Amino acid sequence: MARCEEGYLCHVCGQEVEHLWESELYLRYVLGWVRPEQLHQEPECHLRCNPALAQFVVDEEFPPVEAPGPFDKRGLDPEFVRQREQLVTRAWRRLRQLASSPRPVPITEYPLPEVLARWTADQGGKSVG
Ligand SMILES: [Zn+2]
Repeated sequence: MARCEEGYLCHVCGQEVEHLWESELYLRYVLGWVRPEQLHQEPECHLRCNPALAQFVVDEEFPPVEAPGPFDKRGLDPEFVRQREQLVTRAWRRLRQLASSPRPVPITEYPLPEVLARWTADQGGKSVG
């Protein structure tokens, strides 16, 4: 079962997470929700295996995902949903772009520009929060 050399297995469905843009972990990394030092500690997971997050990707290249239950975006504040869709879709398109980049992009440059700016600021001034 533990065949790590073949890639990372989704902790939800047990299948391999084959592509960067299928990865829920890397999407959260691009969003700045996972720090670089946490990247190899967090379990890997398909984006579609986390409907609560996947439902916010709105792109014709991405099969729409529904998340019935308390996290269903249809039951959430429309303004929150609009902002979250914009953000998560942008991050997902970035993953697609990174995966098809003709030159390899260093993993430290994966996150969205505003995330990198915030992290850099965090390292500079030891501010609270
Ligand atoms: Zn999965």
